[in-house]
Amino acid sequence: MKPEDLWISGGGLAGLATCIALQNKCGIQANILEAKSQLQGDTGTLIALWPNGLRALQAIDSSLYQDILQTGCKIQYITSIRGTEESRIPAEYESKYGQPFICIRWSTLHSLLAKRVSRSQIYLQHATTEVHDKEDHVIIETQRTLSAKDACRNEDTKEAFVGRALIVADGVRSLLRKYVLNENEKQLIDPIYTGRVIARAVLESDELKCLSISLPQNESIFFFSSDGKKVGSLSSLEQGQFYWALTLPVPNMDSCHDIQKQHLQQESEFSTPLMQVIAATPTERIQVRPLLEMQPLPRYAKGNVVLLGDAAHAVIPSLGQGANLAFEDALVLSCCMKNEDNLAKAFSSFEQKRLHRCQVIQEESSKAGKRARELKTNNSSSNPQVFESYEKFLEYMLEFDGISFP
Ligand SMILES: Cc1cc2nc3c(=O)[nH]c(=O)nc-3n(C[C@H](O)[C@H](O)[C@H](O)COP(=O)(O)OP(=O)(O)OC[C@H]3O[C@@H](n4cnc5c(N)ncnc54)[C@H](O)[C@@H]3O)c2cc1C
Repeated sequence: MKPEDLWISGGGLAGLATCIALQNKCGIQANILEAKSQLQGDTGTLIALWPNGLRALQAIDSSLYQDILQTGCKIQYITSIRGTEESRIPAEYESKYGQPFICIRWSTLHSLLAKRVSRSQIYLQHATTEVHDKEDHVIIETQRTLSAKDACRNEDTKEAFVGRALIVADGVRSLLRKYVLNENEKQLIDPIYTGRVIARAVLESDELKCLSISLPQNESIFFFSSDGKKVGSLSSLEQGQFYWALTLPVPNMDSCHDIQKQHLQQESEFSTPLMQVIAATPTERIQVRPLLEMQPLPRYAKGNVVLLGDAAHAVIPSLGQGANLAFEDALVLSCCMKNEDNLAKAFSSFEQKRLHRCQVIQEESSKAGKRARELKTNNSSSNPQVFESYEKFLEYMLEFDGISFP
């Protein structure tokens, strides 16, 4: 380990994309400290990649982008079903925004990214716990996350790493987010529970064969209950797989893990095909997770430490932007670092370029979730001072090119 090393905390989508961007754009080999014992993405979730995220990935690594296009499922129609009302519209993103709309399993996307980072750059079972910024270097404290067998050996599990800087990409429950906040901003450290949980799973193509319904390929379908409180989705994925998700109100976050398959089936008023797909899912494969969001932070950088991805601006998946923003972050940070040797200055320039855009998309994601529940069918942006129409907001969100945004 050398003092000139650059460290990334977290080997999720944001950490890996940043590592690849730094490699390709700046020739920097950063090291990743990852808490888990293996590099793995969520197997039960889809990631929707929108034109803005795809454009960022293309600029980061064109071969990665090609692999994503070849592997993921290109969505051609988006259908909304609310009670008896149904609308099916073509997903014309490629002609409007120059990039398609791709749905891909989170774990597939994660492994496409992981393939591009050398194993020697990744320190598994190292959870970062603290960072100390000493102006010309940082000291990063970690705690080794040991297996039960290793834990019996009473080894010292603390280890410190020295480097030039730390990029914090440790996700929505970030332990290091607090580092960039001031004393009077501590209420922003923890994410907020939205009062809703999301249950979801991926079904393999052979598991779907026994269903008596035919599911549309290359299509994403959204279901809204008549009271607006429950939202379902069904989407085709790579290799004939299908993803479903159901979000429900659950007042107490701690009871989220008590939700059973029977509960989902009883609680939901949705008819086929969503309920049939849920019924066909083996119980143990259904993952339930509370939906968390963050209040926008006032800054992402402090000295030689910078936040990105969900650590900086976690959003609920109402607009499907969390990972897309993380890929934008990775590109913008690498561009800032390419042009500036002083990392504290590069991080501050990253913050200037990202803060406003991420705050706007965080606010709009939160409002989009509420709008669906309030049964507002008109897609008006709730911030008319900023965007004169929802279409203008979509243009702002999807047309990101990594260069012309302030
Ligand atoms: C159900 C669901 C559906 C979603 N759908 C979409 C979608 O369609 N489109 C979209 O763009 N986004 C979507 N998102 C959001 C997207 O998944 C996140 O925005 C994205 O994963 C953020 O990447 P990240 O690397 O910042 O965080 P993560 O992917 O959470 O990665 C964080 C990593 O840091 C590690 N870590 C945590 N703490 C420490 C520590 N102390 N030390 C070291 N390592 C640590 C974790 O183990 C993990 O590997 C969805 C999210 C959910 C929950």
